[in-house]
Amino acid sequence: MQGSQLEEDLQKIKTFLSDNGIKLLFSSDAENYIDHHTSEIVIGCRQTPKHVVYTILHEIGHYFLDIHFDSETKSSIVIEEVLAWDRGYDIGQTLQINIDDEDWKEIMEDCIRQYIEQ
Ligand SMILES: [Zn+2]
Repeated sequence: MQGSQLEEDLQKIKTFLSDNGIKLLFSSDAENYIDHHTSEIVIGCRQTPKHVVYTILHEIGHYFLDIHFDSETKSSIVIEEVLAWDRGYDIGQTLQINIDDEDWKEIMEDCIRQYIEQ
C-alpha cells in the first residue's frame, strides 16, 4: 500500500469523525480506546500506519455499536469486540477505505485472542 493511499484513507476517516463530532487523538501509550463521554477516540502510536487505520475503524465500530452490555464479562467483552470489528469494517467500506481483507482478519483475530487469553 502506498503512503499517499494511507494518507487519503486517514483523511476520509478524519472527515467522517469531524462530521460526527468525534475527536481523534494520538497517544504514546500502546492502548487504543474510545471515551464515550468526551467522544474521543484515542489511538496508540506504537503500530504501523495501516494498523492505525484499521484500529481507528474498529474504535469507530465501538462508537456506533447498538449493543452495550451492562455487565462486563469475558463473553460480553468478546461479543462487543467482534461486533465492533464487524461494524468498523462496514463503515470502512462505506467510506471507501482501502481494506486488505486478509490483514483485517489477522488483526481482528490477534485482538480477539488477547481478550480470550486474558
Ligand atoms: Zn475493541
